[in-house]
Amino acid sequence: MATAAAPRTSEFESPNAPRLFGTDGIRQVVGEEMTPVFVAEVGSALGTYLHGSGEVLIARDFRTSSEAMSRILAGTLLMKGVNVRDMGTMPTPCLQFNIRALGATMGLTVTASHNPNEFNGIKFTGPQGIELPRESEQAMEWAIHRHEYAPGTWDRVGSLRADPDGIDRYVSSILHHTDVPIVRAARPRVVLDPGNGTSAVTSPRLLRELGCQLITLNANPDGYFPGRPSEPNEENLWALRKTVVDVGAAIGIAHDGDSDRVAFIDEKGQFLPGDIAMAVLARERLRQRPGGTVVTSVTSSTLIEDVVEAGAGILEVTRSGSLPVAQRILEREAVFGGEENGGYYWPEHQVARDGPMSSTKMIELLVRSRRPLSELVATLPRYYLSKTKVPLVRPFRDRVLARVHERLEQEADRLVTLDGQKAYYPDGWLLVRPSGTEPICRIFAEGRSAERAKELMAHGVEMVRQEVDRLNAGSNVSP
Ligand code: MG
Repeated sequence: MATAAAPRTSEFESPNAPRLFGTDGIRQVVGEEMTPVFVAEVGSALGTYLHGSGEVLIARDFRTSSEAMSRILAGTLLMKGVNVRDMGTMPTPCLQFNIRALGATMGLTVTASHNPNEFNGIKFTGPQGIELPRESEQAMEWAIHRHEYAPGTWDRVGSLRADPDGIDRYVSSILHHTDVPIVRAARPRVVLDPGNGTSAVTSPRLLRELGCQLITLNANPDGYFPGRPSEPNEENLWALRKTVVDVGAAIGIAHDGDSDRVAFIDEKGQFLPGDIAMAVLARERLRQRPGGTVVTSVTSSTLIEDVVEAGAGILEVTRSGSLPVAQRILEREAVFGGEENGGYYWPEHQVARDGPMSSTKMIELLVRSRRPLSELVATLPRYYLSKTKVPLVRPFRDRVLARVHERLEQEADRLVTLDGQKAYYPDGWLLVRPSGTEPICRIFAEGRSAERAKELMAHGVEMVRQEVDRLNAGSNVSP
């Protein structure tokens, strides 16, 4: 069998071996990079990586090309000798839950998460229900780059079966880990906005079984996303914010396209930034599990540190991205994990970002507290976050970062170099973090006031720009 050899990392940095995997699987524009041939190559690379054995679960979202792509992936894997279980349309966390529940070898979700309509993608999940490590992605990228696949033979074709019970399994686990009687007794009024995405097949049912008085918006699955753009940010959720107030609901809940993330609206129609929702959830978690470990990534607010310290918990900070957070949760047997983008982890249910699970835990918390969500938020310390990005080409990346490091080391109280450069000042912090996949540098800043956050962010932008200009001026070779 011609299995692709794992190459050295440096070879992937060369222009001849383009990186296909982003922070969460492969995402491309359908009909441009995402062609039938490319999808079959991805299936072939995976079949080769799995040595033509095991069982792969395939789920999909409602994008216009998702069924076609999942059929190509299934057919290719079968011809490479891998068994396939077709899970149908469901959220990414629902598929991830089923991988562990069924003891499968791996799972694929055909989805482009919150990306615009023309995109589609493939998310890869390993047997523990967390994403594949970078080395596995590299092995597949290398196989695709060289078109080197295990051949597959007529007498070793895999078997295909459909599994209609995936959503039942998942919803049962969420309800099992939620205090259903307390919510049923209170019957909170809840507005849910799946944004025409995959939570439309899990969450209306989940929240009704939980005992909520449910009002839905955009709850028809539709790959054209007619209701709103798929990213659940403040601007896109204007209709949900209005509806919550109009119907007098206790809370509004929205998900991104593949429902691994969640956004909350308080009873006044105000959008909760991801950090603030994380702090509310983490505080409750530590009340129930005193001394527990909470995992978050380097981009999170100081608010999380404050809440974990006040709850006598242990805070673990990782590089950004769901894989580092999930791995650390497993290593430290953490009680909760979260990212500022609205991805929250409930390890007793599964170690993956889970939007629907996060929604029931927030409702449970609200009912138990007997206070409006806006009041729970008002009891937290207040910080302000500003973020932006500036162009930074790859050849300049390391030199710019080294210079930024030198400058921040001089002026900051403390410097954390876990993922980019995070500098702490008496009244805020600044994070300068080049993207691993795009020619940009992300700048995050937080302060005790909105002005201070903006000031720190502008300082970060200026530093990166100055260093880029200096390199451009001193170099005869254009980057
Ligand atoms: Mg997503």
